[in-house]
Amino acid sequence: MRRLRRVKIVATLGPASQDEKTIEELARAGADVFRINMSHASHELLAQTVTRIRNVEKVIKHPLGILVDLQGPKLRVGKFDGGSVMLTAGATFTLDNSPEPGNVNRVHLPHPEILEAVSVGDRLLLDDGKIELRATRVGGGSIETTVVHSGKLSDKKGVSLPDTLLSVGALTEKDHADLLKALENDADWIALSFVQRPEDIIDVRKIVQGRAGVMAKIEKPQAVERLEEIIKLCDAFMIARGDLGVEMPLEQVPGLQKRMIRIARRYGKPVVVATQMLESMITSPVPTRAEVSDVSIAVFEGADAIMLSAESASGQYPVEAVATMNKVAVAVENDVNYRSIIRAQMTEPEATAADAISAATRQVAETLDLAAIVTYTSSGSTAIRAARERPSKPILALSPNYRTVRRLSIVWGIHCVETEDAVNLEDMVDRACVIAYQEGLARPGDRIAITAGIPLGTPGATNMLRIAFVRQDGTGSS
Ligand code: PGA
Ligand code: MN
Repeated sequence: MRRLRRVKIVATLGPASQDEKTIEELARAGADVFRINMSHASHELLAQTVTRIRNVEKVIKHPLGILVDLQGPKLRVGKFDGGSVMLTAGATFTLDNSPEPGNVNRVHLPHPEILEAVSVGDRLLLDDGKIELRATRVGGGSIETTVVHSGKLSDKKGVSLPDTLLSVGALTEKDHADLLKALENDADWIALSFVQRPEDIIDVRKIVQGRAGVMAKIEKPQAVERLEEIIKLCDAFMIARGDLGVEMPLEQVPGLQKRMIRIARRYGKPVVVATQMLESMITSPVPTRAEVSDVSIAVFEGADAIMLSAESASGQYPVEAVATMNKVAVAVENDVNYRSIIRAQMTEPEATAADAISAATRQVAETLDLAAIVTYTSSGSTAIRAARERPSKPILALSPNYRTVRRLSIVWGIHCVETEDAVNLEDMVDRACVIAYQEGLARPGDRIAITAGIPLGTPGATNMLRIAFVRQDGTGSS
């Protein structure tokens, strides 16, 4: 199976889609990576879902990535006496450490460390930002606030603190347990919610130890402030526009998205654009024009992946949502302006052999109109550097490591195939030609560019570029 687009599609699984048959339909419709959301999945469901995805992978003979998304420190208020209260602007409302059911004057905030972290003047946004409070007095285990924007507040609604740097790490106890379970189940990517500081990534990396890619979800202003430090430390990141749009003025999100995609490309870190991309398709078989525009913008900008959340997890049209994304992505990538927009954001190679060779390979492949760029990659890093160039020719990544093959399923433009390391140069050329031919990326008579590290099998040592000719029988000569 070969995709006809470069951008990848991440589909969140949930009650509407986590059975094996639907997973297969989603994969065939275009899903490259499946996201399991630990805000909703139990450990048992996680293990079951992973098994189903791996079964489908065998059936369709195409690598599928698994992204396990940790809930993170999502703060919630306690419960109310009658289930909800109406908060009116100007009124005083207190959040405190008493587990008693709340009323119109107060409610429990079951996060003692938060009660200490908030400062006078900080905003508290409740229920996805619908209600705004401002802290007027803090201390003694409570936060007294004034209601700025009225609204009905009901049991267990979320609390966002855009002005407060929280002392909690990005990993709660639940996250820690979920993370271990995800690693046990061979997740390819771990997404960390509500990252605030670079240390949050460092802490998680210590646990993950390279067994999965670490993806930072950028959804807090504190993370935006330290964006480059965070991006340098993670393996990929997600523009988590849902919470980002609550914690920051909505009108800033599109500009930020553009900025973040450009930074991603500069550093060569895969970036996922997420949330409400085709929101209306939760209940409708067709998207709105505005949603199609939203998806298109991410594709034109060269994002690595675009993501579906409720559309595929709990909506009525999960397969149609993936098919729609696929169709929009293919159309954008065939648009007359696509290449020039992508090219305009091209960045200089970093001063490494891998980057210099990736840049040279792109140029050689485009100048000579080669059929494909084939890169031997063990950890996947060379393939990601090749993708960073956003070449107009297909990238075929060859890796002896099945974890690398799956992990690369989220990266722009990479078609990855598992194969043993070549034993010598001739084998390397031959193998690249045969697989390019088998995978439909090159025909007899075509030429391809091959990059590898010599001696073969040494990770991170890409130092060779070769042009090879695909023979009539699909084998190669150089
Ligand atoms: P979530 O993250 O769906 O886990 O909240 C994505 C977002 O906030 O956009
Ligand atoms: Mn979020």
